[in-house]
Amino acid sequence: MKDIRNIVILTGAGVSAESGIDTFRDGGGLWEQHRVEDVATPEAFARDPDLVLRFYDMRREAIQTKEPNAAHLALARLDREWEGELLIVTQNVDDLHERAGAKRVLHMHGEHLNAWCTACDVRSPWTGPLLDRPACPECGAAELRPDIVWFGEMPYRMDEIFEALEQADLFVSIGTSGAVYPAAGFVRNAREFGAETLELNLEPSQGTAWFDEARHGPATALVSAWVDEVLGL
Ligand SMILES: [Zn+2]
Repeated sequence: MKDIRNIVILTGAGVSAESGIDTFRDGGGLWEQHRVEDVATPEAFARDPDLVLRFYDMRREAIQTKEPNAAHLALARLDREWEGELLIVTQNVDDLHERAGAKRVLHMHGEHLNAWCTACDVRSPWTGPLLDRPACPECGAAELRPDIVWFGEMPYRMDEIFEALEQADLFVSIGTSGAVYPAAGFVRNAREFGAETLELNLEPSQGTAWFDEARHGPATALVSAWVDEVLGL
């Protein structure tokens, strides 16, 4: 292993799965009996806002009952103890990385515990429902929507992510299927920029061939072991 200082970690659904958080991918494209196109697109929100708001209200409530697992805790420890640069880019919209104690986290697909005001463009911390059209704490407009990047929308903070990939010595993809772009392409970007690449996933992802090394198994076991290795424990 060459001298590693800058680490970029991409996390996906596989990291939160063992905390009991499921995704569209678990049930053949269904999520709590809903199709992606009925609840997770801007068109769905325009067509039936109550359905979409009710769906995300349930998800927002549910994640607050879940707890971080050993994979979140191991990554939080790495964040705390790693003296070089580190960025955890997560596709997850839960707050389990933060609740485990991680600080250097970037939510590229938004966050359940934020509400986004489409009137004033401010995001506010939010734990309650949106279905009853509450007022924006900032401007008072009743124009809050889930702060979630829906299918067909642009992921957040891509410039920062590419900048981090460009500086990375090591890129690690954890618990992602390798099916959703642009995140699925990060491994190739990282390689082009000269980083070593490692996959930690339950099974070989769609992009597994792009990684220098791949380890397969449950995230809780793989991530804890890998973090021990990196910290030299
Ligand atoms: Zn507002």
